[in-house]
Amino acid sequence: MLVDKDNSKNKQKNEAEKLRESLFMKRTHGTISLDKEKQNEADTFCEGYKNFINESKTEREAIAFAIDMAQKAGFSEFNLNKNYRPGDKIYCVNRGKALIVAIIGRNGAKNGAQIAVAHIDSPRLDIKPNPLYEVSDLALLKTHYYGGIKKYQWTAMPLALHGKIIKRDGTAVDVMLGEDENDPVFCVTDLLPHLAKEQLTKPLQKAIDAENLSVLVGSRPFRTDTGSELVKLNVMKILNEKYGIIESDFLSAELEIVPAFKARDVGFDRSMIGAYGHDDRVCAYPSLMAVLDYKWVPEKTIITVLADKEEIGSDGNTGMKSAFFRYFIADLAKLDGVDYRHVLTKSMCLSADVNAAFDPLYSTVYDQANSCYLNNGVVITKYTGSGGKYGTSDASAEFMGYIRNLLEKNNVLWQTGELGKVDAGGGGTIAKYMANLDVNVVDLGVPVLSMHSPFEVVAKVDVYMTYKAISAFFCEED
Ligand code: MN
Ligand code: MN
Repeated sequence: MLVDKDNSKNKQKNEAEKLRESLFMKRTHGTISLDKEKQNEADTFCEGYKNFINESKTEREAIAFAIDMAQKAGFSEFNLNKNYRPGDKIYCVNRGKALIVAIIGRNGAKNGAQIAVAHIDSPRLDIKPNPLYEVSDLALLKTHYYGGIKKYQWTAMPLALHGKIIKRDGTAVDVMLGEDENDPVFCVTDLLPHLAKEQLTKPLQKAIDAENLSVLVGSRPFRTDTGSELVKLNVMKILNEKYGIIESDFLSAELEIVPAFKARDVGFDRSMIGAYGHDDRVCAYPSLMAVLDYKWVPEKTIITVLADKEEIGSDGNTGMKSAFFRYFIADLAKLDGVDYRHVLTKSMCLSADVNAAFDPLYSTVYDQANSCYLNNGVVITKYTGSGGKYGTSDASAEFMGYIRNLLEKNNVLWQTGELGKVDAGGGGTIAKYMANLDVNVVDLGVPVLSMHSPFEVVAKVDVYMTYKAISAFFCEED
């Protein structure tokens, strides 16, 4: 009797295990399911990526790099007066800060297009229009921060200066200082702990004043016995000799302060990459490579958009709220003899952007069951926004179903994730602006640790899986 009872217990247990197996979601370390070859492919892909971010610390540099890559891959600038045939490879530049790269499909765009969008701007310190000043024998540049930063993270670290200056005679000069190891760098000073008794009692938000994010750029005076502001004068003299500029030329400049270091492998196992500006170049690069590497003639036209200004709300003529993208679709539609709205309605889009990877050091702000994790693959984010789903497009069950199926059948390692706990904060992406154009869209991208910090961390496997996901999306046939 007793033995029989035990047996039936065991049987029940086995049934429960079987049911569990078939009904529950499994969560394992994602890379366990990848063979060594896939992992090597990911590592190799990421060498290209590291090169890209090292050369693309500003939106202009990212676009210049992308155009160069596109040209090398046989893409040429879109010309309205030309007739395009299936398989033709084109690109379209918006003011040097945004880019569209496309391959014309067998059916053109009349049945819709397959679109991937990512942004190439990242949080940083912008130089103010009248920035240079001298105080107590130090020369400094005033800054205005761009995007969501934690100000304390930008002090006491080496910084580089990148950008463009349009001089009084209309000529342009490009600036990049602090990247070569022989270049000087710059920095924002911070208070020593010995005298920070009061500062250390302040909330992080208030500890560093935005007007105190001035960048130290000089300390040696112009050698003379008379006059004031001699350190500033000496800096201006150096700038004039190097770039031919005078002080008023700062008014017509876009100068950006970014971290001076390069991307580095992170961890004993080198499984991760630490760098400035993963958000969102870590999705921009896979989006770009998915179209550049495309070897066939797609059924529908495939399009990658690299947009600017996402970090400040996508406003402005190079951001996703501008008509730039819509005008391009209108031009494509014209080639097919249809109205652009019919193209948009039938189009599908992956809004390729990062999500916050679960960080065990700050576990209380995450819902563990609905977070994404490093090394678990590309993350699909059904909705972003904040509070009661404000400011998001919230992908439909149908479109989630389509994407999920697409990733499964192409063996792409994927996961889902929300941006932290409900009411813990929030954020948005480009997805909603695509949705507002009547396009089916969902966010998909790379999980990031320390997002928006000067040194963000991603896992190599996740970067590669984002590339695989977008590539599979571009290969879709009806
Ligand atoms: Mn982003
Ligand atoms: Mn961001």
